[in-house]
Amino acid sequence: MSEVVKSEFGPNLWNMWFTEFNKEGVGLTLKVSRVLHSAVSDFQRIDVIETEEFGKALVLYGSIMITEKDEFVYHEMISHVALHVHPKPSNVLIIGGGDGGTLREVLKHQRVQSAQMVEIDPEVVEVSKRFFPAVASGFGDPRAKVIHDDGARFVANTQEKFDLILSDSSDPVGPAQVLFQQTFYQDAFNVLNDDGIFVAQTESPAFHADNVRKIYKNLSAVFPTVMMYLAHIPTYPGSLWSFAFCSKRYHPLEDFRPEYGNITGLDYYNADIHRGAFALPNYVKALLL
Ligand code: SAM
Repeated sequence: MSEVVKSEFGPNLWNMWFTEFNKEGVGLTLKVSRVLHSAVSDFQRIDVIETEEFGKALVLYGSIMITEKDEFVYHEMISHVALHVHPKPSNVLIIGGGDGGTLREVLKHQRVQSAQMVEIDPEVVEVSKRFFPAVASGFGDPRAKVIHDDGARFVANTQEKFDLILSDSSDPVGPAQVLFQQTFYQDAFNVLNDDGIFVAQTESPAFHADNVRKIYKNLSAVFPTVMMYLAHIPTYPGSLWSFAFCSKRYHPLEDFRPEYGNITGLDYYNADIHRGAFALPNYVKALLL
């Protein structure tokens, strides 16, 4: 006769762990209290797990995209830096970003009149609305428009012009690979206005050095100004994440205007962080030479 082993968490719930392998031999392990959703869409495997430390986490193809506890860092930093540099960011394009967190932050700026999000996978949007309503809160805003398409194809074909493009892509594997290629960067450059800014998430300098080198080489072949900035994100590989500020005209520090935002209630971004995020350690600077 089998016997149910009791634990403080009750049967079937103890000792369940999720590990994301950041690179060969290194991973982040989180204790899981429940698996809330698992599915395979046309593009990727999608899981939602509830973790003890970070709350609910959205996991795509085995990689953490957001957790309830630290999503604010990534979403504030991919959005507010450029929004405090561009004087008139009326027309914003987000590539990827299916969870809606970047859209939510962009829409905090009243100067933004239109925010279009081009996300390849409709299921990510649906899962976020269902399990992460606080992250997905921007989808109902009348200024928001969601298009389901490949972001690279969209920028190659659109006739529209944008003030700001934010590339909130997943890692450079599977459908997101094209979003790290020079062709995509050139097409993004072409659909930006003459004073447009392009920001991209550019992986972990600590764990993805080769990728980071290639990404900045590709960006520098297209944009006259390319500057990396950093943020501390506990659940991302190495806990250190990089973003590229790429621009046709504006400099992220010389043209920084704290008064553009008039934003209260942010949990990471502020004027000191804006300035300090562009200070790079020497081993990171070396990746950009
Ligand atoms: N914060 C995240 C990170 O770096 O871990 C990014 C999260 S966001 C959910 C990334 C989104 O990019 C996903 O929803 C994915 O479906 C979408 N995506 C991947 N490739 C894409 C493509 N070629 N065009 C548009 N969206 C894409």
